Amino acid sequence: MLAGMTPDEALQQLLDGNRRFSTGEPRHPHQEASHRQHLASGQHPFAVIVGCADSRVPPEIVFDLGLGDLFVVRSAGNIVDEAIIGSIEYAVHEFETPLIVVLGHESCGAVKAALSAVTEEEHTIGHIGAVVEAIVPAARRAIHHSGDWVDHAVRGNIEMVAATLRSSEPIITERVRRGSLKVLGARYDLDDGVVEVFDY
Ligand SMILES: [Zn+2]
Repeated sequence: MLAGMTPDEALQQLLDGNRRFSTGEPRHPHQEASHRQHLASGQHPFAVIVGCADSRVPPEIVFDLGLGDLFVVRSAGNIVDEAIIGSIEYAVHEFETPLIVVLGHESCGAVKAALSAVTEEEHTIGHIGAVVEAIVPAARRAIHHSGDWVDHAVRGNIEMVAATLRSSEPIITERVRRGSLKVLGARYDLDDGVVEVFDY
């Protein structure tokens, strides 16, 4: 149904949905039983969302979408590892998904933890260190700037993950070169619900 969308058309779908959500006029599309049954035979998600696991930023809700629309991977701090990149490549390869959006957000706890690790040399417990370490490069850069370090690091981390994906050989790079796939970063505002998209 949504096959054949261009990256820009896919982005427009996301922006339209976020406008409905943020202005308090969600339609909750694609959640009816008939649509569920229609999708049982196959999916064609039009965007991959690499989001934070934060309970306040569920992609289907903030983009006012439903079943079959988004291929979503989430981790604390919207970081990627081999398994997550493999999941993204699967969607891009299998469904020809034209858009990947790395969706970070205001006041991200994982980013704050990375900043604490940098500024206070705070140690992490268990496997949390793997998350923090992935964000530390963005945190180190953020503290060289004036202003809101958390927001600098949130934006820097989004940009870093988007760059990692964009240069991920060969499945993603090939399609980016052909123009059939875009990898964009975006930041969600917890207060007004608006997603700001960055084009690097
Ligand atoms: Zn977060």
